[in-house]
Amino acid sequence: MRNVTTTLRAKPDAAAVAAVDLAREALALGAEPSDIGDYLGHQVEGERVVTHLFACTRPGYVGWRWSVTVARAPRQKYVTVDEVVLVPGEDAIVAPEWVPYRERIQPGDLSPGDLLPVDDDDPRLVPTYSFGDDPLDQDDKAQVRMVAQDLGLGRVRTLSPEGRDLAAERWYDGDGGPSSPVAQAAPDHCWTCGFLVRLNGPLSELFGVCGNGDANDDGRVVSYDHGCGAHSEVRLAKKHEPQPLPEPVVDTLSTDELERF
Ligand code: SF4
Repeated sequence: MRNVTTTLRAKPDAAAVAAVDLAREALALGAEPSDIGDYLGHQVEGERVVTHLFACTRPGYVGWRWSVTVARAPRQKYVTVDEVVLVPGEDAIVAPEWVPYRERIQPGDLSPGDLLPVDDDDPRLVPTYSFGDDPLDQDDKAQVRMVAQDLGLGRVRTLSPEGRDLAAERWYDGDGGPSSPVAQAAPDHCWTCGFLVRLNGPLSELFGVCGNGDANDDGRVVSYDHGCGAHSEVRLAKKHEPQPLPEPVVDTLSTDELERF
């Protein structure tokens, strides 16, 4: 089907628009004739610049189009070919958008021995102590770190409010939050469970750690409104309690006595 698209601002150049045969000839120089299909129309790219489109019939290239761009220089009679490329159309199968390696890493991707350095300006972290306002080189900073360590100031960097918010959001929306299937079916919340281990700091307002070795979440961060069937105060209804076993029956017959019958 002929599909003509024209840009709004540029005026179509009659010679460039008419140069369909020239475009097909240029295309045939690089592509197999059997790979060139019907003419699909043209697009006006700019002043005296037009792209002619042809269907690509090469197996495996469904929806792709040959694109031949032609142009006519000012005050020139002849049209020349700028470029010939294969471009994906709307129905073409194309690779998903490139995602940088750093953004592709997911929890669980790290193998033993792998290193995943954090950027110096990672917004999830803030310095635990300040180096002061004077510019310091790396040696000076190393000395400050050593003194801070000797004084027991602890880690060089700690979670920033942004890092904390991101962690809280992730945990709350994850398997340890209130919307997980196990929490939805739980008889009670972690807040009232004896197995909940309390945290320190701002995150302790919403989260604790499950310390029940029988629970799915043992050792994981759980929100107070999470819960599970292993809650410390869960009791079975009478009808679900194990039935008492009948008295044991002692069989006093031996094989000799059996043979006598
Ligand atoms: S046992 Fe269940 S209810 Fe108790 S803290 Fe762990 S996850 Fe929460």
